Amino acid sequence: MLGAGEVLESFRRTGALLEGHFVLTSGLHSTVYLQCALVLQHPPEAERFGRAIAEHFRVERVETVAAPAIGGIVIGWEVARALGVRSLWTERVEGRMTLRRGFQVRAGESVLVVEDVVTTGGSTRETVDALREAGARVVGAASIIDRSGGRADVGVPRVALATLEVPAVAPAVCTQCAQGVPAVKPGSRKTVSSQQ
Ligand SMILES: [Zn+2]
Repeated sequence: MLGAGEVLESFRRTGALLEGHFVLTSGLHSTVYLQCALVLQHPPEAERFGRAIAEHFRVERVETVAAPAIGGIVIGWEVARALGVRSLWTERVEGRMTLRRGFQVRAGESVLVVEDVVTTGGSTRETVDALREAGARVVGAASIIDRSGGRADVGVPRVALATLEVPAVAPAVCTQCAQGVPAVKPGSRKTVSSQQ
């Protein structure tokens, strides 16, 4: 089995897990920033995570893996490959998670939903809903990382290869802002004033 420590080590090694003082897309501040694309750009890492997730669902007779685009596509594919089943994805159309591109599921088909990171569980839950509406039976959900501290409820049994307890907080109550540590917006090289 692939341990949580090894998973996080591989994120750190590839620059996919940064520790510091960050402004997240939501505007909240955190001491940890994850950019899964940086670890998943390496096929051996993606394959290793895919196999590890697949191990949790060997007995579920999964017929199809479904992932919310874009973040879930690569890891969903690797899980599907490890299970020997097909891989499809859902995407938002006018805000609503939808099966497009001619992807179809049979009534009662056993589907596993896979995402890269679960933060609130929102996109996994929306994908579960979209598949149920299409008639599928969703047998579980999985992600490489759970950054909800195990709290995200997606309405089906859920596993993660590593769970992080990293609160994202409003700038007004951010300890590092209070200490005057400049916050970084990942993706740009600029630091952001804590006053903004
Ligand atoms: Zn801050």
